[in-house]
Amino acid sequence: MVTYKTDEEVKLLRQSNLLVSATHAVIVSLMKPGVKTQMIDQRAEEFIRDNGGTPGFKGYQGFPNALCISVNDQVVHGIPSDYVLKDGDVVSVDCGVYKSGFHGDSAFTFAIGEVTPEVEKLLRVTKESLYLGIEKAIVGGRLGDIGYAVQSHAERNGFSVVREMVGHGIGRNLHESPEVPNYGRKGNGMKLKNGLVIAIEPMINAGKRFILQNDDGWTIRTSDGSVSAHFEHSVVVRPGRADILSDFTLIEEELKKLI
Ligand code: MG
Ligand code: MG
Repeated sequence: MVTYKTDEEVKLLRQSNLLVSATHAVIVSLMKPGVKTQMIDQRAEEFIRDNGGTPGFKGYQGFPNALCISVNDQVVHGIPSDYVLKDGDVVSVDCGVYKSGFHGDSAFTFAIGEVTPEVEKLLRVTKESLYLGIEKAIVGGRLGDIGYAVQSHAERNGFSVVREMVGHGIGRNLHESPEVPNYGRKGNGMKLKNGLVIAIEPMINAGKRFILQNDDGWTIRTSDGSVSAHFEHSVVVRPGRADILSDFTLIEEELKKLI
């Protein structure tokens, strides 16, 4: 069932999503060589709870942590561990917050220290593809327009789109209808109506699109070992322009301080 959110519900969804973005901003200072990914997770959980939320992913279908931290060839759903970040790593951090009855969900991929120009391009193109998809999240458009925008930009730049994992509706539940694929055809799929709230989340691989799952039952990685990137915003479908509920500027301001 697809639900459309009232203005009051959107207000609460924005609060949850802004807490996700603030959490991303807080962990920026830990995105450096020598830091264990489980330390990043601990800091995030502490911050979420200090701000009146609970981690939206922890316990979801048994997921053990607050964050999904996926390094290098890991695409999504990586489990924080004693892995120590090193120069050149590519780290996707997916964060969920549950607060006042509503979920927030957003992901950002960080470069640790110096990365190759190819990786820089992958991060730039994946983020661009997210915003091109968001441009299509407007009243009167169709779901396929979003997927088409994401896919065509990624593939035009020589990258590939993961098919098995998709974006989703979000609200009182972390994952609601509809599914939001990162591939598709213009003019195809469900018609987009005012008040639909969806998480758009391109997962783009530098190599081939195929994925595998690790024995931990969670971690998704590229089958060819190539690097993968993941950016996600939760947005409200509106006439003319989508309303983005999460906010990368909070993260980017912190990143500037590192330089
Ligand atoms: Mg997410
Ligand atoms: Mg999501």
